[in-house]
Amino acid sequence: MPVWNSREFDDHEQVCFFSDAATGLRAVVAIHSTALGPAAGGTRFKHYEHDQLALDDALRLSKAMSYKSALAGLPLGGGKAIIIGEPTKLKNRPLLHAFGRYIDRIGRYFATGEDVGMSVADIDTVHEVTPFVGGTSAGTGDPSIYTAIGVIHGLRAVMQRQFDRSDFDGVRIAIQGLGAVGWGVAERLHQAGARLVVADIRDEKVREAVNRFGAEASDTAGVHAADVDVFMPCALGGIITERSAGEISARAVAGAANNQLATPAAGDALARRSILFAPDYVINAGGIISGLEALADMPGRIRPALGPLEERLAAIHQRLASIFERSSRDGTTPEVTAEIMARELITRAGLSGARP
Ligand code: NAD
Repeated sequence: MPVWNSREFDDHEQVCFFSDAATGLRAVVAIHSTALGPAAGGTRFKHYEHDQLALDDALRLSKAMSYKSALAGLPLGGGKAIIIGEPTKLKNRPLLHAFGRYIDRIGRYFATGEDVGMSVADIDTVHEVTPFVGGTSAGTGDPSIYTAIGVIHGLRAVMQRQFDRSDFDGVRIAIQGLGAVGWGVAERLHQAGARLVVADIRDEKVREAVNRFGAEASDTAGVHAADVDVFMPCALGGIITERSAGEISARAVAGAANNQLATPAAGDALARRSILFAPDYVINAGGIISGLEALADMPGRIRPALGPLEERLAAIHQRLASIFERSSRDGTTPEVTAEIMARELITRAGLSGARP
């Protein structure tokens, strides 16, 4: 399985492959950068058609975590763990313990938490054998609510930039996905006077939103094209393609889902139509911002001076505003500008030689 040749390999510092014959565990941990601090990133438990795709995912997602933490101003690097396999078939206590023992081995450089295919209960199980996990039920728990709060702060920056106002009164907003984050976003936007259009593959969530928020229901295939001011992808990645970008009526795309742009060309297509895009790893950083205390409390870690959580979440507004400002000054898309700014922060820290 080629690592160096992967199209996702991009100056990663370390890639670890772990296996445990007794439990069938096979896992990849990619550490993109520790320039700003020990790497952090969730564990994804997922079946892949072939192993190369698992490696590619680990490489791509760990880099995104580096950028996310850098732009959130956190003293953390980026990493990601992938446990390869179908969780409903493979996941059990001995396997999670075997995985945890490996995480413990690299805990000086990497700590992990929940992601797709892993629950807070699973994280608790991993925590039984290593302190290098965040988001346990006794700790910071589910980060989704903080992600939702951060998304709302970011959305105000989008409103300011594109609509010259920062309130939501009467603003029409389509939300794709009413899960942990999307529901929290919908609740807050409804309270702030927005008019919602919602879609989810779970009909019961859509019905609940119609009843509680007076939302309009949309079909899942067409929600991106709804006649609204803002489209918020809060379900899946890869939702913006060159084609779907051409169908969007909203003037802004800003949501919680990771990796919303299927390709760089999809971002260019939005820009050509003057649709403002909020880079996802900037607007959805609330979860990792809220988990910093847990990460800082791990053995051997230095506890940074932290302001109140509410202020750190609110800072997402200013961060996005400065990305939008620089992108219009430089004539680049917001996602390209965000990447440039993240790389500048990582490179500067790397040159100071402060790696763990
Ligand atoms: P979730 O699983 O709780 O919710 C996802 C929702 O999307 C579910 O209600 C699901 O039924 C719905 N959905 C799935 N496919 C759909 C489709 N085709 N059309 C419409 N709805 C569909 O997940 P979440 O924690 O709310 O996360 C949502 C997104 O935000 C994910 O992309 C996740 O990676 C990202 N994210 C989450 C956090 C967090 O703190 N939870 C942090 C950063 C990024």
